[in-house]
Amino acid sequence: MNSPPHAGSLFVIVAPSGAGKTSLVRALLERRRGLAVSVSFTTRAPRPGEREGSDYFFVTRQEFESRRAAGEFLEWAQVHGNSYATSRRWIDEQVGAGHDILLEIDWQGAMQVREAFPDTVGIFIAPPSIESLRERLTRRGQDSAAVIEQRVAAAKSELREAGRFEHVIINQEFAVALHQLEAIVEAARTRYEQQRARNPALFAALGVGTNR
Ligand code: 5GP
Repeated sequence: MNSPPHAGSLFVIVAPSGAGKTSLVRALLERRRGLAVSVSFTTRAPRPGEREGSDYFFVTRQEFESRRAAGEFLEWAQVHGNSYATSRRWIDEQVGAGHDILLEIDWQGAMQVREAFPDTVGIFIAPPSIESLRERLTRRGQDSAAVIEQRVAAAKSELREAGRFEHVIINQEFAVALHQLEAIVEAARTRYEQQRARNPALFAALGVGTNR
């Protein structure tokens, strides 16, 4: 039987920290309407300027563990010694309502999301070089030298996972990378199942159904 189509697309955007993901996503949201970003839970301490409920839900390890045990997370992973997770209920609600959703998570989480939602669009954002990544992290001024070296080492192993994603954007020139990101979003919105769900009258009139 056909599963009910959902009009929304689920995007996972994965990048090593310092690849420029945050600025790209911010610009994407300014330029494209109708995209909502999932706010994750984390046990990491807030960085200066980060806000509860809009950057993350900051929780203790104890609270994270009890939510995880209660099955509240669609996916979760340990990154740089902290735990991160996506709310299952929020994603289910949004997908059910046909909204386009963006998840900024690590590659392990992305694989778990794809298991639950096989038509998830996976986008990997890579820096043009390891050196440029180190420079960006240093310029950002949010982490100590030791943490930066930890993140560079982690970035190298994350980059080895890029082959798991449908799309890889090399963020050398911001404008080009942004253009590519927008193109991926628009292309996903024109997929048959999404169009059929958005235009039920047209396809019902033709007597055609799912292509799966
Ligand atoms: P940061 O501490 O720099 O905000 O994030 C560190 C890493 O955790 C990034 O790679 C980010 O994508 C990842 N991350 C953030 N939220 C989630 C989440 O909900 N699930 C998973 N699996 N990773 C996340």
